[in-house]
Amino acid sequence: MKKIDLLIFTKHMYTMEGEGVGYLADCGVAVDGGKIVAVASNEELKKEYTAEKTIDAPDKVLMPGFIDGHMHTGHGVLRGVAQDINSWMMEGMAPFEAQRSSEAKTCGSKLAIAETVLNGTTTIGDDGLDMDGACQFIYDIGVRGNVSVRIREALQRAYKAGELYEYDENFGKTTLNECLAIYDKYNDLDDGRIKIRFGPQGPDFVSAEMLKKVKTLARERNTKIHMHLEQGSREAKQMEMRYGMHGIPWLDSMGYLDSDFIGIHLTDATKEKVEIMASRGAGMILCSSSIGVIDGIVPPAKLFQDAGGTVGLGSDQAPGNNCHNMFNEMKLTAILNKVRYADSEVMPAWKVVRMATIENARVLGIDDAVGSIREGKDADLILIDLKQPTLAPLYMKPMRNFIPNLVYSARGHEVDTVMVKGRILVENKKAVTFHVEEILEEAQRFADDIGERAVPQFNEINGKNALYMREGKL
Ligand SMILES: [Zn+2]
Repeated sequence: MKKIDLLIFTKHMYTMEGEGVGYLADCGVAVDGGKIVAVASNEELKKEYTAEKTIDAPDKVLMPGFIDGHMHTGHGVLRGVAQDINSWMMEGMAPFEAQRSSEAKTCGSKLAIAETVLNGTTTIGDDGLDMDGACQFIYDIGVRGNVSVRIREALQRAYKAGELYEYDENFGKTTLNECLAIYDKYNDLDDGRIKIRFGPQGPDFVSAEMLKKVKTLARERNTKIHMHLEQGSREAKQMEMRYGMHGIPWLDSMGYLDSDFIGIHLTDATKEKVEIMASRGAGMILCSSSIGVIDGIVPPAKLFQDAGGTVGLGSDQAPGNNCHNMFNEMKLTAILNKVRYADSEVMPAWKVVRMATIENARVLGIDDAVGSIREGKDADLILIDLKQPTLAPLYMKPMRNFIPNLVYSARGHEVDTVMVKGRILVENKKAVTFHVEEILEEAQRFADDIGERAVPQFNEINGKNALYMREGKL
């Protein structure tokens, strides 16, 4: 008998191996040193191994942890302040964003990460400026991080309609240096649990010279570029004024699109443009709920997939869609695409579960370690409690109904156990490596302070939410 760290015995497992969802009955996994050392029948595992800890889970489903490909966790502290308005950034975010300190941002990251880990997410795809606090928290609590650090040259100030962004070389250098410093401090920590990516904010926010430099530096470090792209009329206008071309054709003309490029949102991208992206091997991450709330648009996931590209899902930010929850992203991606195409077969449940697991891992370039349950991969696993009204009853004949129920019915509270590299972060639906109460108290203190200081600018802007307050609608 081999002595190992952990054995998990299940009745139902979804491995995400192969082309479908990789269902296995009466099988389990053996975990040692953070890695999956065997996937086999419960009987075989019992014959071969004894373990430090055994989880016998006949009423739970074992599957790979969810991967959230694109988040701005630091915005967690501003949850719910910028919804239902057309001018999301200038009218909604601005008065609150102006009052958000670096400490408040880190607290927002803790809140967002705690929320999504409790809902079964094992990889945090974070993005932004000032990422040290978020990276430290990711490292400390043991979750996986795929963090892109924002590089930007356009000065952060108000611009008039039709005014070209003002680039500032020093601002660009400062952000690039921060990206390099975060890379040096965190990349590949804990045997590759944290990956640092280079994040030029968008093709309109950085100069061509800077983009070329970023590409060279990223290539030298064997890391990826993560960039917002074709994300709306503001970007389109900037690109037309500066280059007479939109983001995708312009980047392609520079030879920028390849398998180390991850494009975020692509809300404006046409069929021709996504075909260019997909043909170059670049990946796409879409944020269905956030882009739905902020822009009222369904991103072109289907076009990208039809062109042979790989698509992952992200939850974006709490002042956009209000939550970080991959159940929400899977459900809305499936439903919004059905509505967009008036075709209920267009985005089935199994496909969005793959987009939240193995396909997201491929887009982020971490599929050698995570995204499916296979011998040799890291044990980033979740157990989902079947004894919940949202997942009952369970059909096994003539069809299995778990995957449709996971996407269209479950909401996240069904997640019972969450582990990353075999380390348990959540057990019996309770956080083990972080303190939810403390995070909530801290977030409330920051919100009280930010709210107080946002009053003058909020009243001066006098936008839709100020009107709703006066009319008793909030
Ligand atoms: Zn974003």
